[in-house]
Amino acid sequence: MLRRVSRALLGFVMIMAVCVGGGLATAGTAQADGCYTWTRTLKEGMSGNDVTQLQIRVAGYPGYNSVLAIDGSYGPATKAAVSRFQSAYGLAADGVAGPNTQAKLYALQDNDCTPIHFTYPELNTCNSTWAGGKVAAGTAKANALSSMWKLEALRHALGDQPLRVTSGFRSASCNSAVGGASNSRHMYGDAVDLGSGPHSLCTIAKQARNHGFNGILGPGYAGHSDHIHVNQGPSHFWSASNCGI
Ligand code: ZN
Repeated sequence: MLRRVSRALLGFVMIMAVCVGGGLATAGTAQADGCYTWTRTLKEGMSGNDVTQLQIRVAGYPGYNSVLAIDGSYGPATKAAVSRFQSAYGLAADGVAGPNTQAKLYALQDNDCTPIHFTYPELNTCNSTWAGGKVAAGTAKANALSSMWKLEALRHALGDQPLRVTSGFRSASCNSAVGGASNSRHMYGDAVDLGSGPHSLCTIAKQARNHGFNGILGPGYAGHSDHIHVNQGPSHFWSASNCGI
C-alpha cells in the first residue's frame, strides 16, 4: 500500500515537471515546483529565460546601493547576488545556482511565484486587475512580483520578522484618492509602502539600501513621517533625513 502511494506521488511530481518546466526533470534537479522548475545548474556565462527567472528571485541581493539587471545574462553581478543569497541562507557561497540553491528558492516561493511571505492581493488593494496605472496591467503585476522578492530579502535580513505593507499598486484614480504624487511609482506597480512594527521605520529604510531599491523615502521627507516608501523606478533617489539617509 505504501509503495503504491509513493509511486502515485512520484508520477504526480513527474507530471508537474512536464507541465511546469516544459521537460522532464533531469538528474540533479532537486524537485518539481508549482511555480517554476529549473532544468540545469546555472552559472556565470550562461543566458536564457531560466537565468531571468533566477535573477528575479535573487535581485534582493545586489549589494549596498546597487540594482541587479534582470537581463537573462549571468554575469559577475548575478554571480555575486547568488553568492549573497547563498550566504544569507547558510548555503555554500560559490555563486553557482545548482540543486541546493534552486531547492531553497523553491522552498521560498508559492505556486503563483510570489515569495512565501508576500501576496499579490497584499501588493494591490486598489483593484483586482492591475489596470489603470501608468503601465499595462501585466507589467504592473510583474513589477510588483519583482518588488516582493526584494521585500523577501529585506524581511530575511531583518530577522525573518513581518514587514507590514500599507500600499502597493495604485491605478491613477486610486493614487489620486489617497493624495499620491502625480508621478508616483505606485502607478507602475513597483512601489511599496511599509509601516512600522516590529521594526522602526528607520531600521527598515537603512536595511532597504542593501536590497535593490532605487527609491527610498522616509521620515524627514515630506509626507513620509509614518511609512517607508521603496520603489524600483529608473532614478536613484533616497531621502529620509531623520534616519540619516
Ligand atoms: Zn509610497
